[in-house]
Amino acid sequence: MGSQFSPIENGNLGVNSKMDKMTRRTFLGAGTAVAAIAVGQFGSSKAAARQAPAIRVAQSDQVVNLYSSRHYDTDQALYDSFTAATGIRVNLIEAEADPLIERIKGEGANSPADVLMTVDIGRLWRAQQEGLFQPVNSSVLNQAIPENLRHPDGLWYGFSKRARVIMYNKSNVNPSQLSTYEDLVDPKWRGQVLTRSSTNIYSVSLTASMLAAHGPQETEAWVRGLVANFARPPEGNDTAQLQACAAGVGDLALTNTYYLIRMAKSDKPEDRAVAEQVTIFFPNQRDRGTHVNISGAGVVKTSRNKEAATRFLEHLASRESQEIFAQGNNEYPVVEGVALDPILASYGSFKGDPVNAAVIGENSAEAIRIMDRAGWV
Ligand code: FE
Repeated sequence: MGSQFSPIENGNLGVNSKMDKMTRRTFLGAGTAVAAIAVGQFGSSKAAARQAPAIRVAQSDQVVNLYSSRHYDTDQALYDSFTAATGIRVNLIEAEADPLIERIKGEGANSPADVLMTVDIGRLWRAQQEGLFQPVNSSVLNQAIPENLRHPDGLWYGFSKRARVIMYNKSNVNPSQLSTYEDLVDPKWRGQVLTRSSTNIYSVSLTASMLAAHGPQETEAWVRGLVANFARPPEGNDTAQLQACAAGVGDLALTNTYYLIRMAKSDKPEDRAVAEQVTIFFPNQRDRGTHVNISGAGVVKTSRNKEAATRFLEHLASRESQEIFAQGNNEYPVVEGVALDPILASYGSFKGDPVNAAVIGENSAEAIRIMDRAGWV
Protein backbone atom coordinates (compact mmCIF):
# COMPACT_ATOMS: atom_id res chain seq x y z
CA MET A 1 0.00 0.00 0.00
CA GLY A 2 2.84 2.33 0.88
CA SER A 3 4.39 2.05 -2.57
CA GLN A 4 1.10 3.02 -4.22
CA PHE A 5 1.27 6.35 -2.45
CA SER A 6 4.89 7.06 -3.14
CA PRO A 7 4.35 9.38 -6.14
CA ILE A 8 2.28 11.65 -3.93
CA GLU A 9 4.31 11.35 -0.79
CA ASN A 10 7.66 11.84 -2.46
CA GLY A 11 6.30 14.93 -4.05
CA ASN A 12 9.16 15.23 -6.56
CA LEU A 13 8.93 19.02 -6.44
CA GLY A 14 10.59 19.94 -3.20
CA VAL A 15 7.82 18.97 -0.83
CA ASN A 16 9.29 18.59 2.61
CA SER A 17 9.46 15.68 4.96
CA LYS A 18 6.84 17.13 7.28
CA MET A 19 4.47 17.06 4.36
CA ASP A 20 5.29 13.39 3.76
CA LYS A 21 4.29 12.68 7.30
CA MET A 22 1.11 14.76 7.10
CA THR A 23 0.08 13.20 3.81
CA ARG A 24 0.60 9.71 5.11
CA ARG A 25 -1.35 10.51 8.23
CA THR A 26 -4.19 11.98 6.21
CA PHE A 27 -4.33 9.07 3.82
CA LEU A 28 -4.21 6.40 6.46
CA GLY A 29 -6.70 8.29 8.59
CA ALA A 30 -9.07 8.65 5.66
CA GLY A 31 -9.55 4.92 5.30
CA THR A 32 -9.35 2.48 2.45
CA ALA A 33 -12.25 3.75 0.36
CA VAL A 34 -10.90 7.27 0.09
CA ALA A 35 -7.36 6.00 -0.37
CA ALA A 36 -8.54 3.96 -3.33
CA ILE A 37 -10.26 7.00 -4.82
CA ALA A 38 -7.18 9.10 -4.31
CA VAL A 39 -4.93 6.54 -5.97
CA GLY A 40 -7.29 6.35 -8.88
CA GLN A 41 -7.36 10.07 -9.20
CA PHE A 42 -3.65 10.63 -8.92
CA GLY A 43 -2.65 7.59 -10.89
CA SER A 44 -4.97 7.54 -13.86
CA SER A 45 -4.53 9.22 -17.20
CA LYS A 46 -6.80 11.63 -19.02
CA ALA A 47 -7.79 8.82 -21.37
CA ALA A 48 -8.89 6.66 -18.47
CA ALA A 49 -10.89 9.60 -17.14
CA ARG A 50 -12.74 9.85 -20.46
CA GLN A 51 -13.52 6.15 -20.47
CA ALA A 52 -15.39 6.25 -17.18
CA PRO A 53 -16.49 9.80 -16.53
CA ALA A 54 -19.56 9.00 -14.46
CA ILE A 55 -17.69 6.84 -11.97
CA ARG A 56 -14.83 9.30 -11.66
CA VAL A 57 -17.10 12.24 -10.96
CA ALA A 58 -19.07 10.30 -8.37
CA GLN A 59 -15.88 9.21 -6.66
CA SER A 60 -14.02 12.47 -6.83
CA ASP A 61 -16.98 14.35 -5.38
CA GLN A 62 -16.22 12.62 -2.10
CA VAL A 63 -12.81 14.20 -1.60
CA VAL A 64 -11.31 17.67 -1.90
CA ASN A 65 -7.59 17.70 -2.56
CA LEU A 66 -6.26 20.65 -0.57
CA TYR A 67 -2.76 21.95 -1.29
CA SER A 68 -1.95 24.10 1.72
CA SER A 69 1.03 26.00 3.06
CA ARG A 70 -0.66 26.47 6.41
CA HIS A 71 1.31 24.41 8.90
CA TYR A 72 -0.96 24.48 11.93
CA ASP A 73 -2.14 21.18 13.40
CA THR A 74 -5.28 22.99 14.61
CA ASP A 75 -6.42 23.28 10.96
CA GLN A 76 -7.40 19.61 11.13
CA ALA A 77 -10.54 20.79 12.98
CA LEU A 78 -11.49 22.79 9.85
CA TYR A 79 -11.28 19.66 7.71
CA ASP A 80 -13.04 17.41 10.20
CA SER A 81 -15.96 19.79 10.59
CA PHE A 82 -16.27 20.08 6.79
CA THR A 83 -16.40 16.30 6.46
CA ALA A 84 -18.93 16.06 9.28
CA ALA A 85 -21.15 18.65 7.58
CA THR A 86 -20.89 17.42 3.98
CA GLY A 87 -19.51 13.88 3.90
CA ILE A 88 -16.72 15.21 1.68
CA ARG A 89 -13.25 14.32 2.90
CA VAL A 90 -10.25 16.63 2.75
CA ASN A 91 -7.01 15.18 1.47
CA LEU A 92 -4.25 17.50 2.69
CA ILE A 93 -1.03 18.01 0.76
CA GLU A 94 1.04 20.32 2.93
CA ALA A 95 4.20 22.14 1.84
CA GLU A 96 5.57 25.65 1.41
CA ALA A 97 3.60 27.76 -1.07
CA ASP A 98 6.23 28.02 -3.81
CA PRO A 99 6.76 24.25 -4.14
CA LEU A 100 2.97 23.78 -4.16
CA ILE A 101 2.59 26.37 -6.94
CA GLU A 102 5.37 24.67 -8.92
CA ARG A 103 3.77 21.31 -8.30
CA ILE A 104 0.38 22.44 -9.67
CA LYS A 105 2.12 23.94 -12.71
CA GLY A 106 4.06 20.73 -13.23
CA GLU A 107 0.96 18.58 -12.92
CA GLY A 108 -0.74 20.71 -15.58
CA ALA A 109 -4.18 19.67 -16.79
CA ASN A 110 -3.96 16.46 -14.73
CA SER A 111 -3.38 18.21 -11.43
CA PRO A 112 -5.47 16.59 -8.71
CA ALA A 113 -5.43 19.87 -6.75
CA ASP A 114 -8.86 21.31 -6.02
CA VAL A 115 -7.94 24.12 -3.63
CA LEU A 116 -4.69 26.01 -3.06
CA MET A 117 -4.36 27.73 0.30
CA THR A 118 -1.53 30.05 1.38
CA VAL A 119 -0.58 32.08 4.43
CA ASP A 120 -0.17 35.42 2.63
CA ILE A 121 -1.53 37.48 -0.21
CA GLY A 122 1.85 37.53 -2.00
CA ARG A 123 1.68 33.82 -2.81
CA LEU A 124 -2.03 33.96 -3.71
CA TRP A 125 -1.14 36.71 -6.12
CA ARG A 126 1.68 34.63 -7.58
CA ALA A 127 -0.64 31.68 -8.12
CA GLN A 128 -3.15 34.04 -9.72
CA GLN A 129 -0.45 35.42 -12.06
CA GLU A 130 0.43 31.86 -13.04
CA GLY A 131 -3.22 31.36 -14.01
CA LEU A 132 -3.75 28.61 -11.44
CA PHE A 133 -7.16 29.74 -10.14
CA GLN A 134 -10.66 29.70 -11.60
CA PRO A 135 -13.31 32.21 -10.59
CA VAL A 136 -15.85 31.21 -7.97
CA ASN A 137 -19.20 32.96 -7.86
CA SER A 138 -20.60 32.36 -4.41
CA SER A 139 -23.04 34.68 -2.68
CA VAL A 140 -22.14 32.93 0.60
CA LEU A 141 -18.49 33.96 0.20
CA ASN A 142 -19.26 37.40 -1.17
CA GLN A 143 -21.56 38.18 1.74
CA ALA A 144 -19.29 36.77 4.45
CA ILE A 145 -15.93 38.17 3.35
CA PRO A 146 -15.24 41.91 3.13
CA GLU A 147 -14.60 43.16 -0.37
CA ASN A 148 -11.00 44.24 0.31
CA LEU A 149 -10.10 40.70 1.44
CA ARG A 150 -11.13 38.84 -1.72
CA HIS A 151 -10.39 38.95 -5.43
CA PRO A 152 -12.99 40.97 -7.36
CA ASP A 153 -13.73 38.00 -9.67
CA GLY A 154 -13.60 35.34 -6.94
CA LEU A 155 -10.18 33.92 -7.89
CA TRP A 156 -9.22 33.84 -4.20
CA TYR A 157 -10.69 34.70 -0.81
CA GLY A 158 -9.08 35.67 2.51
CA PHE A 159 -10.17 33.51 5.43
CA SER A 160 -8.09 34.98 8.23
CA LYS A 161 -6.28 38.24 8.83
CA ARG A 162 -2.82 38.72 10.26
CA ALA A 163 -1.80 42.13 11.59
CA ARG A 164 1.90 42.98 11.19
CA VAL A 165 2.57 45.26 14.12
CA ILE A 166 5.39 46.98 15.99
CA MET A 167 6.31 44.90 19.01
CA TYR A 168 8.24 46.72 21.72
CA ASN A 169 10.23 45.92 24.83
CA LYS A 170 8.16 47.25 27.72
CA SER A 171 11.20 48.09 29.87
CA ASN A 172 12.85 50.25 27.24
CA VAL A 173 10.06 51.86 25.23
CA ASN A 174 7.10 53.97 26.22
CA PRO A 175 4.26 53.45 23.74
CA SER A 176 3.84 57.23 23.53
CA GLN A 177 7.13 57.20 21.57
CA LEU A 178 5.53 55.01 18.88
CA SER A 179 3.15 56.05 16.12
CA THR A 180 3.61 54.72 12.58
CA TYR A 181 5.65 52.42 10.34
CA GLU A 182 6.94 55.65 8.78
CA ASP A 183 8.32 56.78 12.17
CA LEU A 184 10.54 53.66 12.41
CA VAL A 185 13.12 55.46 10.24
CA ASP A 186 13.56 58.23 12.82
CA PRO A 187 17.17 58.38 14.07
CA LYS A 188 15.87 57.89 17.63
CA TRP A 189 15.45 54.21 16.70
CA ARG A 190 19.04 53.74 15.47
CA GLY A 191 20.12 50.15 16.15
CA GLN A 192 16.71 49.17 17.54
CA VAL A 193 14.62 47.64 14.73
CA LEU A 194 14.40 43.85 14.46
CA THR A 195 12.87 42.21 11.40
CA ARG A 196 13.10 39.10 9.35
CA SER A 197 14.68 39.15 5.93
CA SER A 198 13.34 40.66 2.71
CA THR A 199 13.04 37.15 1.27
CA ASN A 200 10.16 36.61 3.68
CA ILE A 201 6.77 37.31 2.16
CA TYR A 202 5.52 39.16 5.27
CA SER A 203 8.33 41.72 4.80
CA VAL A 204 7.46 41.98 1.10
CA SER A 205 3.76 42.54 1.81
CA LEU A 206 4.49 45.24 4.39
CA THR A 207 6.71 47.06 1.88
CA ALA A 208 4.01 46.57 -0.77
CA SER A 209 1.53 48.29 1.57
CA MET A 210 3.96 51.22 1.93
CA LEU A 211 4.09 51.39 -1.87
CA ALA A 212 0.30 51.58 -2.00
CA ALA A 213 0.33 54.43 0.53
CA HIS A 214 3.35 56.43 -0.66
CA GLY A 215 4.58 55.35 -4.09
CA PRO A 216 8.06 54.12 -5.05
CA GLN A 217 10.31 57.05 -4.14
CA GLU A 218 9.09 57.52 -0.59
CA THR A 219 8.97 53.76 -0.07
CA GLU A 220 12.59 53.36 -1.12
CA ALA A 221 13.62 56.17 1.23
CA TRP A 222 11.65 54.44 4.00
CA VAL A 223 13.36 51.10 3.40
CA ARG A 224 16.78 52.80 3.46
CA GLY A 225 15.90 54.49 6.74
CA LEU A 226 14.62 51.25 8.21
CA VAL A 227 17.79 49.38 7.20
CA ALA A 228 19.84 52.16 8.83
CA ASN A 229 17.97 51.49 12.07
CA PHE A 230 18.29 47.68 12.03
CA ALA A 231 19.49 46.17 15.30
CA ARG A 232 21.24 43.41 13.36
CA PRO A 233 21.22 41.93 9.85
CA PRO A 234 17.81 40.23 9.47
CA GLU A 235 17.77 36.63 10.67
CA GLY A 236 15.24 34.12 11.93
CA ASN A 237 11.46 34.05 11.90
CA ASP A 238 8.97 36.23 13.78
CA THR A 239 9.48 34.22 16.98
CA ALA A 240 13.22 34.93 16.77
CA GLN A 241 12.49 38.67 16.48
CA LEU A 242 10.35 38.54 19.64
CA GLN A 243 13.05 36.64 21.54
CA ALA A 244 15.69 39.17 20.45
CA CYS A 245 13.41 42.06 21.42
CA ALA A 246 12.86 40.58 24.89
CA ALA A 247 16.61 40.00 25.25
CA GLY A 248 17.35 43.64 24.41
CA VAL A 249 19.06 43.03 21.05
CA GLY A 250 16.71 45.73 19.75
CA ASP A 251 13.76 47.49 21.36
CA LEU A 252 11.34 47.12 18.42
CA ALA A 253 10.35 44.16 16.28
CA LEU A 254 8.10 43.85 13.23
CA THR A 255 6.05 40.67 13.61
CA ASN A 256 2.58 39.25 13.20
CA THR A 257 0.52 39.27 16.39
CA TYR A 258 -0.20 35.53 16.59
CA TYR A 259 3.49 34.73 17.22
CA LEU A 260 3.30 36.68 20.49
CA ILE A 261 0.00 35.09 21.50
CA ARG A 262 1.46 31.64 20.82
CA MET A 263 4.34 32.44 23.19
CA ALA A 264 1.96 33.85 25.80
CA LYS A 265 0.07 30.54 25.77
CA SER A 266 3.17 28.33 25.61
CA ASP A 267 3.84 25.75 28.29
CA LYS A 268 7.53 26.74 28.19
CA PRO A 269 8.36 29.35 30.87
CA GLU A 270 10.98 30.97 28.61
CA ASP A 271 8.32 31.65 25.94
CA ARG A 272 5.93 33.15 28.46
CA ALA A 273 8.77 35.33 29.78
CA VAL A 274 9.22 36.76 26.25
CA ALA A 275 5.48 37.49 26.05
CA GLU A 276 5.65 39.29 29.39
CA GLN A 277 8.54 41.49 28.29
CA VAL A 278 7.26 42.37 24.81
CA THR A 279 3.91 43.79 23.79
CA ILE A 280 1.92 44.98 20.78
CA PHE A 281 1.68 48.48 19.31
CA PHE A 282 -0.81 48.85 16.47
CA PRO A 283 0.76 51.41 14.13
CA ASN A 284 -0.91 54.05 11.96
CA GLN A 285 -4.14 54.21 13.94
CA ARG A 286 -4.50 57.91 13.13
CA ASP A 287 -4.20 57.42 9.40
CA ARG A 288 -4.64 54.38 7.13
CA GLY A 289 -4.40 51.70 9.83
CA THR A 290 -2.16 48.72 10.58
CA HIS A 291 -0.95 46.54 7.70
CA VAL A 292 -3.06 43.41 7.43
CA ASN A 293 -2.16 40.31 5.43
CA ILE A 294 -4.48 37.40 4.69
CA SER A 295 -4.31 33.67 4.69
CA GLY A 296 -6.52 32.67 1.80
CA ALA A 297 -7.46 30.15 -0.84
CA GLY A 298 -8.87 29.73 -4.31
CA VAL A 299 -10.23 26.92 -6.46
CA VAL A 300 -7.60 25.50 -8.80
CA LYS A 301 -8.35 26.02 -12.48
CA THR A 302 -8.09 22.34 -13.37
CA SER A 303 -10.18 21.11 -10.44
CA ARG A 304 -12.71 18.47 -11.48
CA ASN A 305 -14.48 19.10 -8.20
CA LYS A 306 -15.41 22.75 -8.41
CA GLU A 307 -18.65 22.30 -6.52
CA ALA A 308 -17.06 20.46 -3.60
CA ALA A 309 -14.11 22.86 -3.62
CA THR A 310 -16.47 25.85 -3.49
CA ARG A 311 -18.38 24.25 -0.63
CA PHE A 312 -15.07 23.84 1.17
CA LEU A 313 -14.30 27.55 0.75
CA GLU A 314 -17.81 28.41 1.94
CA HIS A 315 -17.22 26.19 4.96
CA LEU A 316 -14.03 28.15 5.76
CA ALA A 317 -16.14 31.32 5.85
CA SER A 318 -18.68 29.78 8.26
CA ARG A 319 -18.91 30.98 11.83
CA GLU A 320 -17.70 27.59 13.07
CA SER A 321 -14.55 27.70 10.90
CA GLN A 322 -13.88 31.33 11.65
CA GLU A 323 -13.86 30.45 15.34
CA ILE A 324 -11.31 27.72 14.60
CA PHE A 325 -9.07 30.25 12.81
CA ALA A 326 -9.44 32.58 15.78
CA GLN A 327 -8.90 29.98 18.52
CA GLY A 328 -6.54 27.58 16.73
CA ASN A 329 -3.84 29.94 15.54
CA ASN A 330 -4.90 33.17 17.24
CA GLU A 331 -5.57 34.90 13.91
CA TYR A 332 -8.18 37.56 13.26
CA PRO A 333 -11.38 36.21 11.68
CA VAL A 334 -12.55 37.87 8.45
CA VAL A 335 -16.24 37.47 9.28
CA GLU A 336 -17.82 40.20 11.37
CA GLY A 337 -18.92 39.30 14.87
CA VAL A 338 -16.72 36.21 15.38
CA ALA A 339 -14.98 36.40 18.75
CA LEU A 340 -11.21 36.76 18.99
CA ASP A 341 -9.07 34.51 21.09
CA PRO A 342 -9.39 36.05 24.60
CA ILE A 343 -5.64 36.58 25.02
CA LEU A 344 -5.37 38.26 21.61
CA ALA A 345 -8.45 40.34 22.46
CA SER A 346 -6.76 41.50 25.68
CA TYR A 347 -4.28 43.47 23.53
CA GLY A 348 -7.11 45.62 22.24
CA SER A 349 -8.72 46.26 18.89
CA PHE A 350 -7.25 48.18 15.99
CA LYS A 351 -8.03 49.75 12.66
CA GLY A 352 -6.64 47.75 9.73
CA ASP A 353 -5.37 49.29 6.48
CA PRO A 354 -8.37 48.88 4.13
CA VAL A 355 -6.24 48.65 0.97
CA ASN A 356 -7.37 45.73 -1.21
CA ALA A 357 -5.23 42.64 -0.75
CA ALA A 358 -4.97 42.46 -4.54
CA VAL A 359 -3.08 45.77 -4.54
CA ILE A 360 -0.58 44.35 -2.04
CA GLY A 361 -0.08 41.35 -4.30
CA GLU A 362 0.26 43.55 -7.35
CA ASN A 363 2.93 45.68 -5.64
CA SER A 364 4.98 42.70 -4.45
CA ALA A 365 7.43 42.51 -7.35
CA GLU A 366 8.25 46.21 -7.11
CA ALA A 367 8.55 45.91 -3.32
CA ILE A 368 11.19 43.19 -3.76
CA ARG A 369 13.15 45.34 -6.25
CA ILE A 370 13.08 48.30 -3.87
CA MET A 371 14.17 46.18 -0.87
CA ASP A 372 17.04 44.76 -2.94
CA ARG A 373 18.20 48.22 -4.01
CA ALA A 374 17.86 49.68 -0.52
CA GLY A 375 19.85 46.93 1.19
CA TRP A 376 17.16 45.03 3.14
CA VAL A 377 18.81 41.63 2.86
FE1 FE B 1 3.36 33.01 10.12
